[in-house]
Amino acid sequence: MKITKISKSRQPDVDYADLPFGKIFSDHMLWCEYKNGKWGEPHIKPYGKIEVSPALHTLHYGQAIFEGQKAYRMADGRVGVFRAHDNFLRLNKSAERMCIPQVSEEIFMKGLTELIKLDKDWVPKDESISLYIRPFMYGSSEFIAARPSEEYVFCILTSPVGAYYSGDVKVYIEERFVRSADGGVGYAKAAGNYGGSFYPAKKIQEKGYTQIIWTDHRNHELIEESGTMNIAFMIDGVLRTPPLSERILAGITRDSVLTIARDWGIEVQEAPVRVSEVIEAIEKGKLTEAFGMGTAAVISPISVIGFRERDYAIPAQGSDGFAVKVKSHLAGIRSGRIADKYGWMTIV
Ligand SMILES: *Cc1c(COP(=O)(O)O)cnc(C)c1O
Repeated sequence: MKITKISKSRQPDVDYADLPFGKIFSDHMLWCEYKNGKWGEPHIKPYGKIEVSPALHTLHYGQAIFEGQKAYRMADGRVGVFRAHDNFLRLNKSAERMCIPQVSEEIFMKGLTELIKLDKDWVPKDESISLYIRPFMYGSSEFIAARPSEEYVFCILTSPVGAYYSGDVKVYIEERFVRSADGGVGYAKAAGNYGGSFYPAKKIQEKGYTQIIWTDHRNHELIEESGTMNIAFMIDGVLRTPPLSERILAGITRDSVLTIARDWGIEVQEAPVRVSEVIEAIEKGKLTEAFGMGTAAVISPISVIGFRERDYAIPAQGSDGFAVKVKSHLAGIRSGRIADKYGWMTIV
């Protein structure tokens, strides 16, 4: 791997007390190009602008996918990446669906760890701050013809981020627009899935909600995800979440939460969750928690669920709630205060 270092780090100038999410990038990035049917040598180089042709394939046809993961400063000063290998596997799953060539484990894992090692100082010793990692791939050929790109770029950017504000999340159950459908690309972390979700999200935000709860494309009877997070409910002491399918993104946070819940002896049900069941459970006082799960906010408790013309309040659970406990348990594993019994941390 080729490494070109910057001469002077921009890190000392960063105001960690006021970090906008995803706008500040660390000193270096990993860059690797796919040409003539194979990946070239990965290059870690200074973060900076790239020049592209207006005929850049991805601008027209959207062969673009990404990942989102985080590195944390541990209590003993080391830096660890959470479940890095799972993001590698998922990137290739998305790549397959979007007709993008597979990237090797060597390029991804070695590229990622070397990059983080180099920009380690960007992760300060403060548990509320982490280094968001954004691997992505896109078609980089320069032609406008509706067939797959012949060239691709695999790049990793990193960005220090503060505690994601997840405050009071008011969600609305969507019955018109869909994020995904059977046979579609919902399970891939494809850029276009996000592009397509902004308009419906904006519509419900105008009504005062923070996020959409997506329902199934056939009858809008089943709960799918919440915005760009997986969703779970505690109903009658059972942790309920929709099963993985072609329509649902297999979240690594989701999997981590379910693993811990099972370990704690909580009954977990990965089975279809009907909208009607959720509304009924709220009305009968059986639904005690509802929350979103994803890398950015980790756990985002939901306080209100809007459905048609009504708002249903979810009682606040405070520190006794499962969501709060599992969130702090995950923070413990990431910091090394709690033993990493599942082997989730990659130390760089
Ligand atoms: C990324 C993403 C998630 C969360 O996945 P994590 O691996 O937990 O970050 C959930 N849903 C969608 C649609 C996503 O794009």
